[in-house]
Amino acid sequence: MNTQESMVNAFIEGAAELDEATASMIAERKALLGPAYRLMYERPLHFVRGEGVWLYDPEGNAYLDAYNNVTSIGHCHPKVVEAIREQVGVLATNTRYLHGGVLSYARRLLATMPSEVEHLMFTCTGSDANDLAVRIAQAHTGGKGIVVTETAYHGITQAVSEFSPSLGENVNLGVHVRTVPAPDSYRSGNVAEEFTAAVEAAIADLQRHGIKPALFICDGLFASDGVFDGPAGFLKGAVDAIRAAGGVYIADEVQSGFGRTGEAMWGFQRHGVVPDLVTMGKPMGNGFPVAGVAARAELLAEFGKKARYFNTFGGNAVAVAAASAVLDVIEEENLLENARTIGLHLRQGFEALARTHPCIGDLRGAGLFLGVEIVSDRARKTPDGATATRIINGLRDENVLISGCAKAANVLKIRPPLVFSRENADELIAKLGRVLQRLS
Ligand code: PMP
Repeated sequence: MNTQESMVNAFIEGAAELDEATASMIAERKALLGPAYRLMYERPLHFVRGEGVWLYDPEGNAYLDAYNNVTSIGHCHPKVVEAIREQVGVLATNTRYLHGGVLSYARRLLATMPSEVEHLMFTCTGSDANDLAVRIAQAHTGGKGIVVTETAYHGITQAVSEFSPSLGENVNLGVHVRTVPAPDSYRSGNVAEEFTAAVEAAIADLQRHGIKPALFICDGLFASDGVFDGPAGFLKGAVDAIRAAGGVYIADEVQSGFGRTGEAMWGFQRHGVVPDLVTMGKPMGNGFPVAGVAARAELLAEFGKKARYFNTFGGNAVAVAAASAVLDVIEEENLLENARTIGLHLRQGFEALARTHPCIGDLRGAGLFLGVEIVSDRARKTPDGATATRIINGLRDENVLISGCAKAANVLKIRPPLVFSRENADELIAKLGRVLQRLS
């Protein structure tokens, strides 16, 4: 969870009356897990079971999940559960032995990528994937410099936290890192031009300080920056700029991958660009830890010469069984199409709400990843993080889960499982309408 999410959703002591069971569990958690963890919502939730788009608390109350994108094909999808159960009962070894599962998965996954992207390496988490991608990029380019957006989140390792500005003031950005403003289509006159110019300026600043640029990395939908989807194609200038400076483009598909946009399997495809490296994770195993880095062949030449890559759990037989089942379900249940049509339906519902609720300043997103920007003054486009927080907590009280993002924590982040139905979407729209009505 990044700073914006924690600012929006963190459990703030004393913010709400808590029942005894919740209060005691929070105290125990603090005592056992220490102070670094954060909870979501003013009244934190305790879940014991998940199924499809629903999460259940100990009393059996159902919550509509419009937020969790790890369990992207639905909580506890029976096909994934069965694939894991079967494989873990047969063999759970690693990539130091020959195994057909990892090969058939790599072949299938790479078939969803542009033909230039020829290899797939396995990790366990998105952070782990980005950490590896940076090592590869730095080995290939001989540079160190990194360009990211100013509220980006890419993960938790030492190297990756140094270019994850959304972690907040307590995490220092590396001296080799430059940030650029988010491609804010709500406020910018020409996103493509302004974003390209900002990336060019960041590259020039690195060079001025004697730092050779290695890479530009961005999330396919700029999730932590506030969900910026368009106009499609605006990334091309930034990608050209980093390549002209000898660096590479890493597409972080941890959030935007695996059909989330409804238009294509990968978020970068909306921009008509071919990445040098693609990182992925979260929905890849629908809850089972599996992540990876896909790469153009020439990118791996230098790294492969020097490194002997082994990741104990990355690409293990059980992980690839789970990941294969996820690909099966995306195809069998036609989930890209569902993300597209239900995403559109949700957007139309939010558009209708925006007509009567002036606090909705802007609607953005692609497929089943939507951002609703909350403002206090439409004419001035003034971010209103406090109202966004009230909406998120208000929906929680209506048994609907969403979250927030952006620098000012004022963008509702709506990212339901790809199996969301029209009926689920209507419930979300109606309950959002009710919360907005109550707040107005
Ligand atoms: N990149 C992006 C865009 C992410 O959203 C996240 C997780 N929120 C990560 C990387 C890190 O993934 P993980 O938590 O699996 O390490």
